[in-house]
Amino acid sequence: LGQKISQALSMIQNAESIDEKVLDACLKEIVTALLQADVNVRLVGKLRDNVKTRANNADKGAGLNKRKIIEKAVVDELSSMLSSGVDEKKLVDLKKGQPNVIMFVGLQGAGKTTTCTKYGAFYKKKGFKPALVCADTFRAGAFDQLKQNATKMQIPFYGSYTETDPAVIAAKGVEEFKKANHDLIIVDTSGRHKQEDSLFEEMRQVSAMTKPDLIIFVMDGSIGQAAEDQAKAFKDTVEVGAVILTKMDGHAKGGGALSAVAATKSPIVFIGTGEHMDEFERFEPKAFVGRLLGRGDWRGFVDKISEAVPEDAMKEELMDSLSKGNFTMRILYEQLANIQKMGPVGQVMGMIPGLSNSGLFTKGKEKESAARIKMFMTIMDSMTDKELDCPNPKVLQEQSRVMRVARGAGCNPYCVLELLEEYKRIRALIMGPGGKGKGFMQQMSKQ
Ligand code: GDP
Ligand code: MG
Repeated sequence: LGQKISQALSMIQNAESIDEKVLDACLKEIVTALLQADVNVRLVGKLRDNVKTRANNADKGAGLNKRKIIEKAVVDELSSMLSSGVDEKKLVDLKKGQPNVIMFVGLQGAGKTTTCTKYGAFYKKKGFKPALVCADTFRAGAFDQLKQNATKMQIPFYGSYTETDPAVIAAKGVEEFKKANHDLIIVDTSGRHKQEDSLFEEMRQVSAMTKPDLIIFVMDGSIGQAAEDQAKAFKDTVEVGAVILTKMDGHAKGGGALSAVAATKSPIVFIGTGEHMDEFERFEPKAFVGRLLGRGDWRGFVDKISEAVPEDAMKEELMDSLSKGNFTMRILYEQLANIQKMGPVGQVMGMIPGLSNSGLFTKGKEKESAARIKMFMTIMDSMTDKELDCPNPKVLQEQSRVMRVARGAGCNPYCVLELLEEYKRIRALIMGPGGKGKGFMQQMSKQ
């Protein structure tokens, strides 16, 4: 989908002049791509009209770059299509030091049990003390499944093999973990194959007994247009505050679920992108659309890194130094150090186009990539503070410096040059060629 939209947009970029005909041709491609991805017809129509209006308004303003305006309009419209209008940040930034009770609901197979644990692990990294309660007495083996996941992520859990009333288990579990001062208590519930009365009754009871602070509706992201009915049915039964879409691994047909959920005005807070516990990420419409269009998602990358470091301070610091316009060697060093702390190198690096399959990271060669990052960091350890903070990459290339650093790191000078090449490439990616121009920083600050 992203590729098709990008292609359509490039029609605008490449056209000699932008007239009605070019715009229509471009919009036609975008509309087709969205419809093929199962996005709701009504929303697609709205997008087309809005982009057209904005393009026509641009005709009146003299000197403005029409290409940019159209491109921005498309990105904006796509983002707002996926936005619920609710402040998602409030739903994601849970308060510490109080028991946050979060109840998960959704049909069987949607991914609740898997997502519960991913969710707990996400907040654990942020310094929370999560705990899991299994209130699914419907599916055989439900408790064992949760137990297994929880144990793997070292999250305490509660459940019962004998009690058959889910509301009783849920209440007991929540009470116990409140006493033990857990500040995030996640209640996993059962689902049915269909949206049935018995399921809805059970959800109401569990909700009444546990009084959750937030109810999260988990939905299979690949189900297309059926998503709207399903999301509505759950929303009508209990007070669904947020949505998590799972199985967004391919994004192929994610358009259906995304637009359908957006239509119910429920904010999507996270998406699941695989079966593994770390395949889980924040959903932010702008960043998502950016990535969809292959534009790279520096903000998402920064988020990912700051997850590993409990404090938000680091992220602010990074954004701050980037916005001052300098991606120094020291920043690269700090980022690599954080990536190392986080485990799977691939996932993080994959978020920035240009980094995946770069000199730093090769897909499928995580081990080698990690070793390479380590080597680069050893080289940086041999640099002086001045060099690490040096605003000008050219200075670092001076031959005597390269030789000195190589000696200090005990490596071949060629490796130092490789690091410099890589650094320059990433720097150009982020700051634009020569430190100014069309880098991520500029694109971001324009938004
Ligand atoms: P529940 O019945 O709602 O509790 O769903 P489960 O957590 O048991 O998940 C059902 C299946 O979906 C399992 O095989 C999971 O591994 C799989 N699953 C869950 N989330 C994702 C995801 O984001 N991507 C993929 N590919 N599979 C997922
Ligand atoms: Mg389950």
